[in-house]
Amino acid sequence: MPAEEVFIALGSNLGDSITIVEEAIQALDHINHCRLLARSSLYRNEAISDIPQDDYINAVVKVETNLEPMALLLELQAIEHAYYRHRENDERWAPRTLDLDIILFGNRHMNDSHLTVPHPEFSRRRFVLEPMFEIEGDRFIAGYGSLSYLINAAPVLRMEKLDRPDA
Ligand code: ATP
Ligand code: MG
Ligand code: MG
Repeated sequence: MPAEEVFIALGSNLGDSITIVEEAIQALDHINHCRLLARSSLYRNEAISDIPQDDYINAVVKVETNLEPMALLLELQAIEHAYYRHRENDERWAPRTLDLDIILFGNRHMNDSHLTVPHPEFSRRRFVLEPMFEIEGDRFIAGYGSLSYLINAAPVLRMEKLDRPDA
């Protein structure tokens, strides 16, 4: 199977989130049959939630992989568990140590009980769109539009790009 380009969004708002996200990016690069092509800076974002909670640290990476989407999702879940992902309760969007979501998987569209690709919310999330723009520039995403169009249309929340220690 030819390699496909995949965008993965990372997020953390429990624990030492900057370290957790940086280490998770390295862990993604070490998945078999998966190679890191590009990564964004880290961004600090206001949580979207009815429950008051700490800011998130977010980033997006682009990888190249020969894995099938479900196999990649299992690898991502193994990394989430390696960071002792836990939640203060069972609600979606509750604080968590690490969240890894598949945003785009090549040009695939899929929707089953375990995996929806493209991610159903990505086009409204600035914490995904801005880091993608940093990596990709103003790329057009079939079925959605350009990243700049999506960024302008997305709800505005407090967001801060963090300096890259290596930049
Ligand atoms: P959101 O999807 O709105 O960002 P979340 O990331 O908090 O919410 P999780 O608890 O991490 O949600 O995941 C719940 C389930 O979502 C997972 O068990 C997984 O099977 C499923 N899922 C569906 N589509 C995707 C995707 N594109 N990437 C990651 N998980 C997905
Ligand atoms: Mg998520
Ligand atoms: Mg998730």
